[in-house]
Amino acid sequence: MFNNILKSVLATLLLLSVAASANSVDYNVLIKQAHQQYKTANEGKVADYIPALAAYSPDNFAIAIVTADGKVYATGDSDKTFPLESISKVFTLALVMEQHGSDEVLAKLGANATGLPFNSALAVELNPGEPQNPLVNAGAISTVSLVKAENKTERWHRILNNLSAYADDNLTVNEPVFASEMATNQHNQALAQLMLSYDVFYGDPREAVEIYTRECSVDVNVIQLAKMGAVLANQGRSPFNGKQLLNAKYVPQVLAEMAIAGLYDGSGKWLYTAGIPAKSGVSGGMVAVVPGKFAIAVYSPPLDRAGNSVRGQKVIRHIADATRASLFTHTQ
Ligand code: GLN
Repeated sequence: MFNNILKSVLATLLLLSVAASANSVDYNVLIKQAHQQYKTANEGKVADYIPALAAYSPDNFAIAIVTADGKVYATGDSDKTFPLESISKVFTLALVMEQHGSDEVLAKLGANATGLPFNSALAVELNPGEPQNPLVNAGAISTVSLVKAENKTERWHRILNNLSAYADDNLTVNEPVFASEMATNQHNQALAQLMLSYDVFYGDPREAVEIYTRECSVDVNVIQLAKMGAVLANQGRSPFNGKQLLNAKYVPQVLAEMAIAGLYDGSGKWLYTAGIPAKSGVSGGMVAVVPGKFAIAVYSPPLDRAGNSVRGQKVIRHIADATRASLFTHTQ
């Protein structure tokens, strides 16, 4: 009698667990299906205002999901590297947040959307000298200047080591991209000088622009990028090397900055349609974070007018929909 009850309880449990796994999404299937579905989407244009970026093929296409507990799923050109560009801003912000705290970040770098392009000088003029947020160029250059260090070399190494720790790999600078960007970064130099002219800058503008340009030129592949995002999905702790890279109490503020300005003047529409914090870069990389669950990274160079990867947005939206990941979706 007792045995029969036990057997039927076990059978029910088995059925329930099979049903649960059938309901849960298979990330491998999901990313392969998204790759297949969007590989022919060919809107957008590869960035060419940094000459070295124009050489990247518009056909490069890779997707990765890394879960908060460190499982890796990837498809497409996952071994191809690309410079982080603006995605680097998020992780240097995290470093500065860790060193100075979230109140100082809010006071010195801000948390407001500009509604203007990522390198807008007008946005700086409108709020005399204040960069508005750390993810537009002006704010990211300021962020670099806030990294605590004795000198330029140490400041750069702190930033690079921090990026490497997030990726759980030794990242390196793509020297041709760096040289190309240094030769054409007059606009960014002007932004730093403009902030200084309003007395709202925290270091040496030339040095900050050079280090900023260097961090933008650090190469990653899509798996490394998704691993970087997974640290933020895992309360600031790397699921790979176990290091607490960002105090868990600051993770929501970093994600909030991504939600506010991660896609620049495309950020509002992005949050409305995808509902998850993300960050893009002009090389075509994009990373999105679903707290407690996973990070998605996509690499596809053609960009929309705001400078965000077209396929990157389509793929991440697709995955967010399929996994009901929008932060605004009611989940039981
Ligand atoms: N390095 C690029 C720049 O400063 C980064 C811009 C971006 O990725 N949106 O112009």
